Amino acid sequence: MVVIKEVVYVLGILFFSMNRNKVPHMRLEGKVAIITGAASGIGEAAAKLFVENGAFVVVADIQEELGLKVVASIAGPDVDRAIYKKCDVTVEKQVEETVALAIEKYGTLDILFSNAGILGPMDSILDMDMEDSFDRTMAVNLRGPALCIKHAARAMVKRQVRGSIICTASVASVLGGVVPIAYTTSKHGLVGMVRAAASELGKHGIRVNCVSPYFVATPLAISGMSAMGINNASGIEALASSSANLKGVALKAKHVAETALFLASDESSIYVSGHNLVIGGGFTVVANVN
Ligand code: NAD
Repeated sequence: MVVIKEVVYVLGILFFSMNRNKVPHMRLEGKVAIITGAASGIGEAAAKLFVENGAFVVVADIQEELGLKVVASIAGPDVDRAIYKKCDVTVEKQVEETVALAIEKYGTLDILFSNAGILGPMDSILDMDMEDSFDRTMAVNLRGPALCIKHAARAMVKRQVRGSIICTASVASVLGGVVPIAYTTSKHGLVGMVRAAASELGKHGIRVNCVSPYFVATPLAISGMSAMGINNASGIEALASSSANLKGVALKAKHVAETALFLASDESSIYVSGHNLVIGGGFTVVANVN
């Protein structure tokens, strides 16, 4: 009898240690998130990762077909885990409706990942089209996050939720000359908005941070490369893996999503606010890139 007990005990320990690393650690268990620009690229990867970590996600994007596909692929049999909402972040009514949907469907709002953005035309200051280039880029990359932060924060304050807001800026938020001037301006501005919002919303327990990725081969970045005449996969892969001190390691959408997950989770809940977390592999800080 004693021997059987000991065998069962040893088998139990063996089973536990073999499976310890396989049990997913639910870092967003039960949290409700809105992710804008979630039909593609970084937002899509974040939607997948957030759901895998126990969150309920509103996939907000202007691309309906792709958005619905993302929901179907991440929610699986648990259809309630994610929902698509057509939302143009530049239109206040649509942003309000998206926040209202999250609350109606899931009861609250804990996380906003304001990630939707556009690159805009690859023009220079010398021939910049003020409507198509400047105004449009500011509308999506600045007005959009402003509206999303405004309405998400209002919902959080009203419900006394100690929420987390994350915006996607870019390495172009700290450097000039990497990408077009309107995009650079918008991302610098976004960091200012995040700092101001962090300062204002801190008293409500709401944290606001930025992630600022280097090049990730998404449709947005590939269209920019294409506008510069780089269309081959090897050229794109080379750029994706060419940051200063991490050469050979391509930055992927899921890596950016992992950083957003950290900022969304309770692991960063104490005092981590107002930051611009550059995911640049040294690109923005290393002088000698050889
Ligand atoms: P992506 O093209 O794969 O995704 C962008 C998504 O935003 C698309 O699904 C698009 O439909 C959506 N979108 C565009 N305008 C919108 C609007 N008005 N309302 C709602 N949704 C809208 O590109 P991505 O690279 O995943 O871009 C995500 C964010 O990452 C952007 O803010 C971009 O500026 C930023 N970023 C990208 C890179 C990169 O190299 N890919 C680098 C730094 C920062």
